[in-house]
Amino acid sequence: MIEIFSDISPVKVGHYQTILEEQGIATFLRNNNLSAVEVPIPKFYPALCIMNDEDHQKALTILQDIIKKEQTKISSPDINCPNCNEPNPATFETCWSCSSEL
Ligand SMILES: [Zn+2]
Repeated sequence: MIEIFSDISPVKVGHYQTILEEQGIATFLRNNNLSAVEVPIPKFYPALCIMNDEDHQKALTILQDIIKKEQTKISSPDINCPNCNEPNPATFETCWSCSSEL
């Protein structure tokens, strides 16, 4: 198991997990049950890990692509989910709350 991404935001880590799972990469979330507010130490941030070491390079390539795209769209306004009306970052393709297509 290799950790490839961690962030103070569980929503962001979960979003990247969904993307990797959609690409057929088995993943695992570490520290997902801890609140970053209670434990504001990077070591305890939610961390996205991949189950199979051989997926490491593929997973990194996918994440780097996504992060690059997100940085170019960073000023985009939030999109409200058509299903549950929660605001989502413009870079999300599915709602973080209900998983509907945006
Ligand atoms: Zn929704």
